[in-house]
Amino acid sequence: MKQKNKAFDQVDLNASKGSIWFNHLNRVRENGPSLVEDNHIEDTSFTTRAIHAGQYDDPVTGALGTPIYQASTFYLNDETYEAIEEGRGRDALIYTRYGNPSQWAVQNKLASLENAESSIVFSSGMAAISTTLLALLDKGSHVVSSRDLYGGTYNFLYEDLQKYGMEVSYADPTNIEEIEACIQENTKMLYFESLTNPLLKLVPLHDLAYLAKKYNLRLVIDNTFLTPYNLRPLDHGADIVINSATKYLGGHSDLIAGTVSGSRKLMDRVWGQMLKLGGSLDPHACFLLERSLKTLGLRMKAHNSNAMELANHLEDHPQIKRVYYPGLASYPYPEVVREVLHTGYSGMISFEVEGGDQATLDFVKALRLPKEATSLGGLESLVSIPFNTSQASLTREQRRSIGIQDGLVRLSVGVEEIEDLIKDINQALEKIKVQEPCLTI
Ligand SMILES: *Cc1c(COP(=O)(O)O)cnc(C)c1O
Repeated sequence: MKQKNKAFDQVDLNASKGSIWFNHLNRVRENGPSLVEDNHIEDTSFTTRAIHAGQYDDPVTGALGTPIYQASTFYLNDETYEAIEEGRGRDALIYTRYGNPSQWAVQNKLASLENAESSIVFSSGMAAISTTLLALLDKGSHVVSSRDLYGGTYNFLYEDLQKYGMEVSYADPTNIEEIEACIQENTKMLYFESLTNPLLKLVPLHDLAYLAKKYNLRLVIDNTFLTPYNLRPLDHGADIVINSATKYLGGHSDLIAGTVSGSRKLMDRVWGQMLKLGGSLDPHACFLLERSLKTLGLRMKAHNSNAMELANHLEDHPQIKRVYYPGLASYPYPEVVREVLHTGYSGMISFEVEGGDQATLDFVKALRLPKEATSLGGLESLVSIPFNTSQASLTREQRRSIGIQDGLVRLSVGVEEIEDLIKDINQALEKIKVQEPCLTI
């Protein structure tokens, strides 16, 4: 691994990738599309940019904040006709599936947080993922990915890409040799989640970027569990970063959205695909997402620290067999995979409760604060059990074969006071404790 990373350092990540045709184009690529110049935020920190980047204050009334442009269409004028004629439709306001000021504002904020030239917001994480895959792959393309994937993504790769004459190979996402061995002549893409569900495996991002460079592949990373606050995959050689904004980016369990970020060149291709599939984000949801992004750094700081504290507490608890959390010293993967994280390990923890699946069901019922619900990344703690939710379609043997042991619980640690969460978890564990038989003399 170490050696691979040395080789990686010598690779020029800024050298342009992709087809020869693109390499010989001298067209100047613009960021955006955008309505405002983001002045005064260059070289500022994450939360400062989260607050200020992209915001389009109402030019008519001077009202602070981006208005909700709840319009499906826009007046056509000489400028828009010219933009359409010259193939610059993405930079003109024509029709809301193509673009809308509410979308542009939140996209620019996000691009600033991802260190991307350009971002696109979608009507869900799955719209973002399916559109990106169809935009970047052709008939006959091969993808290397992993079974440690969000269920919807796995189903799309497994069921739908085949229909379009594409192939997918699945490797252990932590084993770079196995991933490299899957690469074949027609491989076009490496598709991985930076932190997987539910076992919270961090993928070796630098090694993946090295492979992508070596074999001229696109590296696409779903960074939903970490968010740009903890990891910016584009800074480490990924070509595209995707988020289900339904989770941490939205952060309040009240909206469905997805995001894709990368170079303007790639985003223009994704945009063209989005026009055909139609998964653009409604202006009102753009408003909610923009509002949420302003506090992303503040929220993630609290999620990170709560989860770290809780992971330590659970690891010392006699009724907990094992805790999965990348911040623990017991985390089984090499130190190098953690080096890309700036600020923390996110708010997702998995752990095995003594007593197997029945004890786990009783434990979850006994919790008062964490809500029993699927999804993650909201202010409130959410708890779910992989065996009857995300991995319910697998048999017990299949679950064990991918490392999901009986009694596994997945907890999205919210931003409640950590003392309250610990107290609640302790009382729930106390309730399910197997009573020692009474000694009668
Ligand atoms: C939830 C999720 C998705 C799908 O996002 P939706 O917004 O529900 O469509 C994709 N990837 C990961 C890692 C997720 O957790």
